Order: sequence, then C-alpha cells, then structure tokens
Amino acid sequence: MKVPLGEVTKQYHDNQVEIDSAIRAVVDSGQFILGEPVKKLERDIAELSGARFGVGLNSGTDALLLALVADGIGPGDEVITSPFTFVATAEAIVLAGAKPVFADIDPSTFNLCPEKAEDVITARTRMIMPVDLYGQMADRDAFCAIAEKHGLKLIWDAAQAIGARFQNKPLGAFPGSSTLSFYPTKNLAAAGDAGMITARDARHAERLRMLRHHGSRQSYLHEVLGYNSRLDELQAAILRVKLRHLERFNAARAEVSRLYRNLLKDLPLILPAESRQGKHIWHQFTVRSGKRDALRAALDQAGVASMIYYPVPLHRQPLYAANCAGLDLPSTDEAARTVLSLPIFPHLGAARAHRVCEALRANA
Ligand SMILES: *Cc1c(COP(=O)(O)O)cnc(C)c1O
Repeated sequence: MKVPLGEVTKQYHDNQVEIDSAIRAVVDSGQFILGEPVKKLERDIAELSGARFGVGLNSGTDALLLALVADGIGPGDEVITSPFTFVATAEAIVLAGAKPVFADIDPSTFNLCPEKAEDVITARTRMIMPVDLYGQMADRDAFCAIAEKHGLKLIWDAAQAIGARFQNKPLGAFPGSSTLSFYPTKNLAAAGDAGMITARDARHAERLRMLRHHGSRQSYLHEVLGYNSRLDELQAAILRVKLRHLERFNAARAEVSRLYRNLLKDLPLILPAESRQGKHIWHQFTVRSGKRDALRAALDQAGVASMIYYPVPLHRQPLYAANCAGLDLPSTDEAARTVLSLPIFPHLGAARAHRVCEALRANA
C-alpha cells in the first residue's frame, strides 16, 4: 500500500456535481472578473474568520504584498518575521521595498518566538509579521502586546491556518490583518492560485480593493499605483463549494493527528506540540528526528511519502544569506535539520495512517 503526501483531486470528486455546476454558472454568466462569487466568498471567509471584510486576491503571496503596501510599508522600513517559513513571506517584504529581519523560532511550536522578535526591534522597525506555521496560530497575545508597546503594525501570514483559533478566537478577531492562501495543497484549496486578506474596516478594505485593481475604484480612473491581483470568479465559485466542507475536512485532519499521536508516542520521535491556547488545523503533522534523512529514505523505500518543510531556512537562502552574515538562529537551524512532515489530508483514512505508523515503527 502506497501512501501519497496528498490527493488534491479527491475534494473535487467528493463534490463533483456541485463544483461542476458552480463552474458552469460562471462560464455561462461570462462574468470572469470581479463578479458575484468573489463577493460572496469574501463575505463567507470574513464571517468564518470573524473579520469585518475579506478582499480576494490572486494568491497568498500577493495577499502579503498588498497587505504590506496598504499599511504603507516601503523603503527604509524593517519588518520582523520568521526565518522558518515558505519564501513568500520574506519575498513580499522585499517586493514592498522593505527589509526582512529574521528572529529565531520557538522550538516547540516552530512559530516566531515573541521574545526573540522583540530583541531585534530597531528605530526602523515598522511591523512584525508572524507566520501561523503548519496550521497553528502564532502567539496572538504576546505579539499584540509587543506591537502595542513599540507602536508597530501587524500582519499575520495565515496561509496555512484557515479555520484555526487562538483562545477560541478566529483569525480576524485580532489587531492587524491576516493573509490567506488557497493554493491547491492548502486546507481550503482552489484549482489554481488564489488568496485573500481579512480587512479591519471599510477604509482598509477599499484601499485593498483599489490596489488589486490597478489603483482604481471607478473604471479608467487611477488614484494610486496598483496591481493586477484579482481573485478570479472560477476559483471563487470552486472555493465556495469547498468552503462548505472545510470544517469536516479540518476535523478529518485532526482525526489523523490523534491517530498518529497515539500510535507514535513511544517511538524516538518528537511529536508536534499542540499549544493549549489554540485550535490547530493540522495543515502539516511534523515530527522531529535526529536521523531525519535516513528515516525519510526508509519511508520512501516503504512507499510512504514525506516532505521537509523547510530544508533551508530563509537566513541561509542564497538570496538572503549575504544580508544575514553572523546571524545565529539555533532553533531554526535545528528545525531545518530535523523536521519531517507526514501525510495528513482529509481523505487519508485510518488504514493508510496505520501504514505510515508501521513504516515509522520499523525505521525510527
Ligand atoms: C502557501 C504560502 C504562502 C504563499 O501562498 P501562495 O498562494 O502560494 O502565493 C505564503 N506563506 C506561507 C506560510 C505559505 O504556506
């Protein structure tokens, strides 16, 4: 029995009739850009996130960039973020013209460590951008307190955390804005690229809507320098169908995580820490092992897929290393050396999850 890392087509086959008719309705309407499905999806996601508004964009990367630009971040500004994330987090900061400043992570949750972030604040720091890695929200209380104390803005890279909670509160219940990605492997998955920002108030939402549409509110009148970054209607229509099943899909992931936790607890692996403060949505189930590379090769031999998110932390990437000389981030380096993400997706099922555990038991 082979076990893949994911099965992106299963969510389609599960809801094929609904998704096909949603696609047909868009194609029939001829309204491919900024129509009804996007508006409705924005309302649905805002509601799910406890935010006042949602603004649909063409990717999670653009969501980060436009959120930065809308908050006036640009040349001369420093933005503190995690070095242990997908590259887009830092890329957006550089594209906005600002400088990413990396601080070490908390070794138990893999999220940016609030104390370490506070240590690197300078006179140029304007914002902190924590990442909700693997589906677990970064410490909202600690970061909000630091931001308030130092007068800093906050953007939360929640690309991996739709539906997560912190002290039973959803993403939009906190200061700052959250950015989401609907990349095909994310918990809420489009059939292509798509993203969204949760907006704080009507003015913020209006500014984001202008930025995504060539800096324009009214056709052919351009007030600010903008982008072409709209969420397209086909993706929105597909996402609206899948959104109705998100809670069920996230619950199925949580079931797999309980099974893994039970069956792996006596193995020489460090299991992912679940903060008592929050609800994890298990975008990834990531263990740590001192012999990670050998373990991964053995799993591969046994037909069990696994992945390293992320093998090279951002401060060691060729693009950023020159600006990070002498930067010592031991918990980040340790994580990059030891982490291994196991298959976890809504349709994995108990039989295949057991197979993953047997392969680990034979090799860990
Ligand atoms: C996926 C992801 C992004 C980028 O989202 P895209 O939709 O692929 O552009 C940004 N940050 C994190 C943490 C991600 O996982």
